Amino acid sequence: MPRAKRCTFRERGRRCPRDGHGEPALCNACRVVVLAASVPKSPTQTIIDALANLMVGRPVDADGALGALQQIMGQRGGAGIQDVFRQFADVGRVPAQAPLPRRPPPGPDPRVAERAAEIAAARRVLGFTKGEVLLEQQIRDRRRELAKKLHPDRAGGDARKAAALTAKMAAVNSAADILLAPAP
Ligand SMILES: [Zn+2]
Repeated sequence: MPRAKRCTFRERGRRCPRDGHGEPALCNACRVVVLAASVPKSPTQTIIDALANLMVGRPVDADGALGALQQIMGQRGGAGIQDVFRQFADVGRVPAQAPLPRRPPPGPDPRVAERAAEIAAARRVLGFTKGEVLLEQQIRDRRRELAKKLHPDRAGGDARKAAALTAKMAAVNSAADILLAPAP
């Protein structure tokens, strides 16, 4: 019985450790790999591979893909296709360019944000909830209501309390003015 030879298949510089047979000597596993690699790719597969490589920026076998394309088109040396494909394939060879600096989108106008904050604060002072739709009359009614409640007469002669009520009413008035002011 002839002594088995070592499989001659090499991958990434390392030789297969299994026993091989035949000429060249290959083990069964490596024979499958070699056979699969030696089967020519179909033209369609060649183009699909070229396009896939293009998309991920790998080098493209432009000649192979061009040949495959011509095979599919049943043409030999069709100048138009050749040029188009070469241009197309060249895209894959151009290093990806840094994206152009983009101007940041215009941010919100700070005056608008300021006005919104002012309105939100005014609504809180008058006791309106955040999302409540306000009619002018509601604002006036609320101011009148609060004017009664915060009247200095309600301080019962306490000067400090009267001053505090007056200050509160001033805040109510200015809040009502803000809400009643026409939108700019
Ligand atoms: Zn092997």
